[in-house]
Order: sequence, then C-alpha cells, then structure tokens
Amino acid sequence: MFGLVVAAAACRSDPSPRRQQELSSPMMESTEPRNPRVETARLQRIDVYGAGTENAAGARVVLLFEGVPLFEQKQLPAEGILPPRIAIELQGAEWDASVPVSQAIGRGGLQRVRLATPNPRVVLDLHPTATGRVFFLTDPYRIVVDVSAAPPSRNERRPLVVLDPGHGGREPGAANDRYALVESQLALELAELTATRLRAIMPRSRVLLTRSGDVGLSLEERCALANAMEADVFVSIHLNASSEEVRKGGVTTFVLDTTNNRQALRLAARENGTRVAEVTGIQSLLAKHHRQSQAEGSLTLAGRIQRSTLKAGRRVLPSLSDRGVRRAMFYVLVGARMPSVLLEASFLTYEPEARALTKHRYRRALADGIASGIASYLQTR
Ligand SMILES: [Zn+2]
Repeated sequence: MFGLVVAAAACRSDPSPRRQQELSSPMMESTEPRNPRVETARLQRIDVYGAGTENAAGARVVLLFEGVPLFEQKQLPAEGILPPRIAIELQGAEWDASVPVSQAIGRGGLQRVRLATPNPRVVLDLHPTATGRVFFLTDPYRIVVDVSAAPPSRNERRPLVVLDPGHGGREPGAANDRYALVESQLALELAELTATRLRAIMPRSRVLLTRSGDVGLSLEERCALANAMEADVFVSIHLNASSEEVRKGGVTTFVLDTTNNRQALRLAARENGTRVAEVTGIQSLLAKHHRQSQAEGSLTLAGRIQRSTLKAGRRVLPSLSDRGVRRAMFYVLVGARMPSVLLEASFLTYEPEARALTKHRYRRALADGIASGIASYLQTR
C-alpha cells in the first residue's frame, strides 16, 4: 500500500496465500488475541507523521512490520513522573537494530516514542491532555496510532481545506500513453488549480496540498497531515482508469464505506495498491472507526463536489457521464477525522475524456467545479 502503481494490470498485489486467513481473525482494538498462532514478526520502522509544525493538533505513528505481530494495546494514565502513555505490547516480535530506541517528538500531543523491554513493546509518551487510538492496516502490516492533542476551540477559525493529489514520486498512478497523460501529474495540476480557485472564491479559507511536487507520500501521511492541521475537509483527487474497454467514462465521488460492488472493490484495490480480497477482508473493520456524523458530512460533501464537478466539466465536454456518489474502501480516507472524499475526476482510459484532459480548459473547468463543490459545502454546513 506504500506502492500505488499503474492501472489494474500493474497493481501491486500480495502473492501471499496467508493473507486471507489472517484477515479472518483481525485484532483491531482487541486486548484478547483471538488467534493463538504466534509468528515471529519484525518491527522494521517507526514513522511519525503530521507532527512537523509547532502547533500540530495531532500526530500519527506508524509501526511497520515484516510478518504479522500479535499485539495488545494499553492506555496508561499519568503515574508519578510518567506522562499518560499508550503501550503497544508485542508478542513474539523482534525489532531491527536500525529502529531508534527513543525518538523525541514534543509536538502534536506526542512527547516521545520509545522501545521498551523485557516484553517487547513500543511506548508513546503523550502530553497530559492528549488522547490516542490504535488500529492496524495490512499489506504490509502496520499498527497505526493516531494521537490527538487536545485541540483548541474551533470558533473563529478560518476553514481549512486539505487537497490530496493522488500518487506521486515512484507511483505515477494510471496512465494513457497515447495522450501522454499521467495520473500523478494531472492530479497535482487539478489540486493546484482547485486551490487557486478556492482562494479566489472563498478568501477566508486556507488551502493546503499534501504534496506540492512529484514526490511520493504514504497513504497514512496524507490523512495524518489533514488530521494534524485539524482540516475541515479532505479531498483526495484522482483520475480513473480501467483495464477493460471503457464504454462510458464519467465523474465519480467516493466516500469511505463498505461495498459489495465489484467495480468499486477493484478500483479501491488499485488505488490502495492491494488485492480485491484484501479490501473485502478489512472493510468489515471499518465501521468502528467511522463516526456517523463524519459519514453524513462526507456524503454531503461528496454530493456537492460530484454535482459541481460534473456541471463544470460538461461546459467543455457535454457528454461527460455522471457515475454518481459511491461507497468504497479507500485506505487514504481511513482515519480521517473530518468529512473526506476521493474524487475520480474523469477516465484516463476513455477516449473522449482523455482527449479533453489534454486541454487546459477542461482541466481548469474540473478544478473550478471541485472548488465550487467544496465552497458550497463549507458555506452551508
Ligand atoms: Zn489514483
């Protein structure tokens, strides 16, 4: 999932036959391991995202493993000189010598991340008012801890929009060679144009992009930035593609949810860099982490963006199809604390849309549509 690769045929898949079995006994937020089988797993890295700025409102800590660890999480209150802590106790796990024993953070509600023994565990020392929640992602296996520093009052805040151009760096996303179209480049341009437009029509708003150049970003990092900045809206921008012949392209806006739809599963697998079976397996865990109020906000936001993007796109390409608001399991949206959607703005592999995408006029129309959708949502919520 750190690798998002071109189109369905090139999708990074996990050849391991163990995967489905593991998924059938997940241990999300579980204190009692349900699976008695202990494998030797290896902690390879601890990444901290979103704590880069002085007043970050949160941080995301990602423990990356080789193999699948059994773990137990403990939320410990302050005790004497010890601050409140989250301890991830690992069973039968080892760690690479390159993992630092202690990392001082001091931002985003997180004081320090450290390794402790004798039972191998990773301890997050929190600031007194901070809270955290723990979940995991697979393929590769990661334990994720979202820390939230007690946020200041949201009154008087200028609305903050985080736009996330999909892919980037070594992950170009989908492509259309005939028209020299690359998803990562188009997504970045659409995000930049959308930001410019939003600032023009909503001068009070602040707009941030998760990436500003052709750099790679993990899916966690994208949403961690939005969480850390307490964004009001998170919009991940993509271009659709299909390995099958596309008879009808169109605009689709997705909200994070479970789905049985075959196409939605396939698309999510492509965007996540995983297999369809994996998406099916982990989506059942999702409900716990998706608050109802946020789900409603995401649906409203999706409706606004879908309608206005379609309307604006049709000014240049009248035949542009409406594929509607749909539900799918996109990792990039997992853990977002604000209304969040993933937009597939057009099809790179559908001839009329690919041709239109070569024109600046069409790209700007799509971006104007995205911006109006976001503005309309922010003004009426
Ligand atoms: Zn994409």
